[in-house]
Amino acid sequence: MSFDESFSEADPAVAEAVAAERDRQESTLMMIASENHAPPAVLAAQGTALTNKYAEGYPGERYYAGCQHVDEIEQLAIDRAKELFGADHANVQPHSGTQANMGVYFAVLEPGDRILSLSLSHGGHLSHGHSANFSGNLYDVEQYEVEADTGYIDYDSLAAHAREFDPDMIVSGSSAYPREFEFDRVGAVADEVGAYHLADIAHITGLVATGLHANPVEHADFVTGSTHKTVRSGRGGLILCDEAYTDDVDAAVFPGSQGGPLLHNVAGKAVGFKKALEPEFEEYTRRIVDGATALAETLSGHGVAPVSGGTDKHFVLVDLRESHPDLTGAEAEDALEEAGIVVNKNTVPGETRSPFVTSGIRIGTPALATRGMDTEELETVGELIVRVLDAPDDERTVESVRGAVRDLCEEYPVYDS
Ligand SMILES: *Cc1c(COP(=O)(O)O)cnc(C)c1O
Repeated sequence: MSFDESFSEADPAVAEAVAAERDRQESTLMMIASENHAPPAVLAAQGTALTNKYAEGYPGERYYAGCQHVDEIEQLAIDRAKELFGADHANVQPHSGTQANMGVYFAVLEPGDRILSLSLSHGGHLSHGHSANFSGNLYDVEQYEVEADTGYIDYDSLAAHAREFDPDMIVSGSSAYPREFEFDRVGAVADEVGAYHLADIAHITGLVATGLHANPVEHADFVTGSTHKTVRSGRGGLILCDEAYTDDVDAAVFPGSQGGPLLHNVAGKAVGFKKALEPEFEEYTRRIVDGATALAETLSGHGVAPVSGGTDKHFVLVDLRESHPDLTGAEAEDALEEAGIVVNKNTVPGETRSPFVTSGIRIGTPALATRGMDTEELETVGELIVRVLDAPDDERTVESVRGAVRDLCEEYPVYDS
């Protein structure tokens, strides 16, 4: 045993599991809409000696000595985030998207204040006020839903709900709403009822950065995001806000709800944001959205219904009830995983099964686009998905799709090109 043993010498069990996970990612299609492959440069930045450094505070105002280099790194991450999203102020310290939302709530709300947000089963997020989350425990939450027949948000009924409930904050943004979020309309409602507007762009950071999804910065007091999803900058969170809220937001993150920042992850964010500012990133995000559109069309061509009839974003939410009434989301998830296509079961509007079973699956394209795939490959993947959904218990079908998936993965490697 010595201090400088290699990873595999020091801990073969963990090292082997990490290698196996890397292999799993390389040899399957990661279609969980919130996942992506971070560029090697981001992984390299994250696995550094920055993990050793304490830097409570913010660049130029730390509680510890020796912060000159981490100050430079965090400032680069802040400046690039501001440029990427056109924001006045950025806080890049939240450890996750949930911590970013906590930071915003703590900045301007008191326990017991009222929040109006999209319900989890209609595409919202736990941190938007679910009873199992701190946000549901601390605040008085009411939720809006999508229309069961169209799958779209009805902004007029959202406005009526807001007038009646008189919330202190309205949260827009989602994890599983396949249509463009009309942040301008939510912003107008928030103005009318005198509420703060928090726009959570966790899933769509990359699409907002390149203008493929409307940018809420103009229409919201606060914008939060995760950095590991479409912007593929490594695991973490982000808060953007107007200059006026800078001190409140910064104080709510540290010391309000976190201790020392994860500077290795802040370095990952800095590197990822730099890459997202490059022209290639725009082309990448276009393939995400075009691929999801091609996937939706392929599926609906086989009668497999995308909720809302299609997608404006990076994933398709499939409602299996018409095409495959006996197949649950959980069963579809299992059969697809056997075939090397990793998706997640998801509730659908008007859901009749439990959240552990569900009648839908959510199928995302960001990781496939990172591998270089485009519309043609997503059409192929759509055909493979339909084959599995049509015969989830047929071993020969599943094996044959698994083979086709392996071939695709070899043709489009992630890290081992
Ligand atoms: C993923 C997600 C988050 C939370 O991100 P974590 O980093 O997992 O905490 C918050 N809001 C929405 C809408 C999300 O989709």
